[in-house]
Amino acid sequence: MSRPTRAIVDAEALRHNLAEVRRRAPRAKVIAIVKANGYGHGLLWVAKTLADARADAFGVASVEEGLVLREEGIAKPICLLEGFFGPDELPLLAQYDLAPVIHHESQVRALEMARLARALSVWIKIDTGMHRLGFAPSAFPDVYRRLKAAAAVGTIRVMSHFASADDPASGAVTQAQIDTFNAAAAGVDLERSLANSAGIVAWPASHLEWVRPGIMLYGGDPQVGGAASTFNLRPVMTLTTALISVAQRRKGDAIGYGPEYRCPEDMPVGVAAIGYGDGYPRRMPVGTPVLVNGKRVPIVGRVSMDMLTVDLRSQPHAKIGDPVVLWGADLPADEIAARAGTISYELFCHVAKRIPRVAVDGAEA
Ligand SMILES: *Cc1c(COP(=O)(O)O)cnc(C)c1O
Repeated sequence: MSRPTRAIVDAEALRHNLAEVRRRAPRAKVIAIVKANGYGHGLLWVAKTLADARADAFGVASVEEGLVLREEGIAKPICLLEGFFGPDELPLLAQYDLAPVIHHESQVRALEMARLARALSVWIKIDTGMHRLGFAPSAFPDVYRRLKAAAAVGTIRVMSHFASADDPASGAVTQAQIDTFNAAAAGVDLERSLANSAGIVAWPASHLEWVRPGIMLYGGDPQVGGAASTFNLRPVMTLTTALISVAQRRKGDAIGYGPEYRCPEDMPVGVAAIGYGDGYPRRMPVGTPVLVNGKRVPIVGRVSMDMLTVDLRSQPHAKIGDPVVLWGADLPADEIAARAGTISYELFCHVAKRIPRVAVDGAEA
């Protein structure tokens, strides 16, 4: 028997969430965002599943991620969300038909000088208020004019990114970004993209010609403080392991590293084979729920590298081999993330390489 820790990923849930994107943005084409190893779910598995489900394009963060997709036969358009990092990458982009986001003057200059085997499709990024990447709206017409004249550039599209669309309290900021984007792109006949998951669920006016869902494809909550289930999204990943030890401890026993947690009474304590070396955050506080045999029990003591300990008072008959779920169906990753002061995106991305991804198709997981 091998270590029982697994990230079970469900193709049916992934397809369901893509269908939910389509239901909400029926006229838009979908760039499925699969950067960071498909938000930790497995880049190739995610891309192949979504390609079979007719996603229109994919978004990645680097040429390397794009090449993985091309070499495994993904033929759909691929967008490089951070563009290219130097002119030396441009021949690869042309060879593998990767469409960079152009967000900086240095990239415009590189494209003006480049002589490529084929013209690149590009996305011009306008900074509408996030102040991370992109051209000021006032600079856009000139960038567009220069790229249109560049031999290395073929189809041009235009995009921007929301800073706070996930926060209902920041509605004015998001509306201002939409207005700024529409004004900047008004004079040109280009396909546009603005909406991430939060834009898709909360800002229909941002859907335009292309939407860019990430977290909602994986069943994470696209809005802060909500619940993915209220948006009819299903968790794709179930992070699971098993109890590898159960022992009766005495009142006053300290559990695990450090003296902080002491048993308030004689009680059974279980050990699950997962820890921060697997991506389960060390800062998860005492009391964070996990499912043992499908029922919530609290973590006690500190999370170790490879293990964590749970209070089994509510499950006195739990035994070695019993299943432990850290998040997934019946235990939303967003709820667990909030316990650690983070978001489900980070939990998913941090699921360690050493954990096997096990693909299933349907609820038999
Ligand atoms: C990551 C990313 C997305 C997806 O965002 P979600 O909040 O996960 O939907 C969309 N667009 C860009 C430019 C991104 O970097």
